[in-house]
Amino acid sequence: MTELMPTLFIGHGNPLNAISRNAYTDGWASIGTSIPRPRAVLAVSAHWYIPGCAVTANPVPRTIHDFGGFPQELFEVKYPAPGSPELARRIKALLSPVSVALEESWGLDHGTWSVLTHIFPRADIPVVQLSIDARQPPAFHYELGKRLMPLREEGILIIGSGNLVHNLHSYAWGNEGVAPFDWAVRFEDRVRELLLNGDDAQVVAYQELGRDAMLAVPTPDHYLPLLYILGLRREKEQISFPVQGVDGGSISMLAVRIG
Ligand code: ZN
Repeated sequence: MTELMPTLFIGHGNPLNAISRNAYTDGWASIGTSIPRPRAVLAVSAHWYIPGCAVTANPVPRTIHDFGGFPQELFEVKYPAPGSPELARRIKALLSPVSVALEESWGLDHGTWSVLTHIFPRADIPVVQLSIDARQPPAFHYELGKRLMPLREEGILIIGSGNLVHNLHSYAWGNEGVAPFDWAVRFEDRVRELLLNGDDAQVVAYQELGRDAMLAVPTPDHYLPLLYILGLRREKEQISFPVQGVDGGSISMLAVRIG
């Protein structure tokens, strides 16, 4: 039997992590050296949240600097990994009858490259991104994850990049070491427990988790990548949290590894 590639959810947090070295980025680098070398990477980034399903099909995806107000050094970062039109077509076929556009103009956004630059610093593994269809409910994204399962047997590393708790309104810019909000800690603990117990249905139905969920997930974009990864978990498959912490009080940097 072919080895099953692990799958990851990464809390990417502040874009500056791309050019920083800290406990989070060291954790990402360790993940990169602890998994088998993938044939390609499929990234589901919070920052490609659009009304539709699309995959990047460009053989040379550009590095997209989709943020403002950061130092020039960050705008100069390039992550020159090749694309994989072949993998893009494979994903389109796997997700059928959901219509998936082969997108030539989008490239790699910072949800993808700010973490890959630490996980695979050589940028020599092909990378494809899958958009998050903003029109669809959480269960749709979990189901899409399930349909991508065969890719794990084909040596493809699937990474969801978002943040389990992501409230920028409450984020302490410039004071990232501030103590986490109690609701942030409670929500993260709750979801972590649900993950360990294999209660997928409740992780998908996170909106039922009350006020803490409303504060932790004010918009779905950074939470939904987790549901793809959850859909990719085989029954009773090992789950671990290789990176932990809450940044600026309201951004969970939790990473989830399956397999
Ligand atoms: Zn983000």
